Amino acid sequence: MGRKGHVPIRMCTGCLRRRPKKELVRLGLNHDGGLVVDSEQVFPGRGVYLCPESECLELAIKKKGFVRAFRGKFRQVLPEEVFRAFQEERECRK
Ligand SMILES: [Zn+2]
Repeated sequence: MGRKGHVPIRMCTGCLRRRPKKELVRLGLNHDGGLVVDSEQVFPGRGVYLCPESECLELAIKKKGFVRAFRGKFRQVLPEEVFRAFQEERECRK
């Protein structure tokens, strides 16, 4: 499928840079409206992408990127929780 060498590009919600999708972490909402790292890309509907960097997460929170992306469906951001998920994601990629 697709052209050879075609790389899907997504935009980071934090720094707004465009990067290959596989370099980004996808975040989705669970049924409680909590933010989760969707590494298997199993969550339905809208997801947001972030560089696996804590700076981008902070930017996304500051600029209300998540609120916009999820249209108010999302409950709240618990930065510590998301940071932890980020760390786990990073460990998996090593
Ligand atoms: Zn970024």
